Amino acid sequence: MSGALPSMGDSSELPAAAERRMGDRIAASIYRDPDYVDDPVLGDYLQSIWQPLMKAARARGELQDELDERFAWALFLIRDRSINAFALPGGYLGVHLGLIGAVNTPDELAAVLAHELSHVTQRHISRLMTQQNRQAPWMIAAMILGALAASKSPDAATAAIVGGQAVAAQGQLNFSRDMEREADRIGFGVMQGAGFDSRGVAEMFEKLQQASRLNDNGAFPYLRSHPLNTQRIAEAQSRLQLAAAATPSPEGRADADRAQLLHAMMAARARVLAVPGVDALRAMLAEAQRRTDPPATAAARIRDAGVLYGGALAAAQLRDFAGARSLWRQLPPLTEGVVRARQAVELLGIEIDLLAGVVPPSAATADLAQATTRAEVLTVSRSLTAARRGREVSDRLQTWVTAHPGDAMAWQMLAVAYGQQNQTVRAIRADAESRVAQRDYPAALDRFKAAQAMMRSQPGSADHVEGSIIDTRARQVESLVKAQALEDKVNR
Ligand SMILES: [Zn+2]
Repeated sequence: MSGALPSMGDSSELPAAAERRMGDRIAASIYRDPDYVDDPVLGDYLQSIWQPLMKAARARGELQDELDERFAWALFLIRDRSINAFALPGGYLGVHLGLIGAVNTPDELAAVLAHELSHVTQRHISRLMTQQNRQAPWMIAAMILGALAASKSPDAATAAIVGGQAVAAQGQLNFSRDMEREADRIGFGVMQGAGFDSRGVAEMFEKLQQASRLNDNGAFPYLRSHPLNTQRIAEAQSRLQLAAAATPSPEGRADADRAQLLHAMMAARARVLAVPGVDALRAMLAEAQRRTDPPATAAARIRDAGVLYGGALAAAQLRDFAGARSLWRQLPPLTEGVVRARQAVELLGIEIDLLAGVVPPSAATADLAQATTRAEVLTVSRSLTAARRGREVSDRLQTWVTAHPGDAMAWQMLAVAYGQQNQTVRAIRADAESRVAQRDYPAALDRFKAAQAMMRSQPGSADHVEGSIIDTRARQVESLVKAQALEDKVNR
């Protein structure tokens, strides 16, 4: 099996643009799903693994330029405790919080993401779609959505019937065995190219194998869509032997420890945000409170940081803010070399205060202009909004959304910051843009029209530039609404 890709003219493939349109439709529904989670902290963490994988796929020639440009390459976090990740058409990938909470290392997470990425780059999805060529693409999109929704209910059998062959009962695409082997092989190379420890693949397989022995498929939907067979395992083992996962150098070891430290905290965060129920949160809190002396070994310190982080966040969710702060203060002082881990700890402190409804003390001195990562920009913005420093927030977020126009949460926070300054027209426009970012064009159009009505009834409520931007955006979004309606009519 060579890695060569069929040419784009190959009739066995759905054109990239069509696959992207299908993905967009599915994405629009997922954005509206209450179980879709936009957590900037975990989002940044996933991106820190995802971006190197994308880069490696490009460098290895696995990612065609056309797909690179046309596809969304966006990750969705889903509030679901089961262990799963899945590729959708058009370069969208879903990741369950349960997966992040269950893996022990960033390398295990990279192994799963690289595998899913390879399903997309190898056009496995488009091939499945065209195998179903008696059905219109929109119908397949509807099937995927139906199956995704049904996978959450006990009545998943309905989806299996509706879904036909392309979509399995668990709401995922049913790839062939050969496709799975190809995704294993390409994914392994991509993961290695991105600098991850390839033993992560073996560890992940081990986890899956244990789960299948325990018959724990319910918590492991990934196992149902990715049945392990001796061939897959043997191939992975021989790849590992060839790669000769050598003993890492001392510097490599230190890097790995830093990555593990951040991972331990992020996995704990994912477990808390997956809403495991009050008993589970109490258990996390109790575990953190039970600990005594700071541990001696590096591995124990890493584990300890995860326990404290999880305990502090669990306490905050249980509204025990004194308990949360006390655990947070016990998190190890992090200095050189651990910028991202230190940032995660700082942001957790702000988050606990905001959940408690108090203005974080750091808001008095925070310099939003210095914030660079998304988690930092959005969390510090929340903090400054609580301190009623709306002007600084809107200045920073205006720059941010110019660079990231698809960031719905940033637009939403910008709307709040403008509201705080009584700039109502701008607030309504920012709210409209957040709907555009979530591809809810009719809702966006409503808001643009409300902004226009306000400008007419209250001359002077917006300046000329703002007014003409709103008129232009209203026209653009109106044509998107019309195009969507037309597409629906044709499809019906
Ligand atoms: Zn797969």
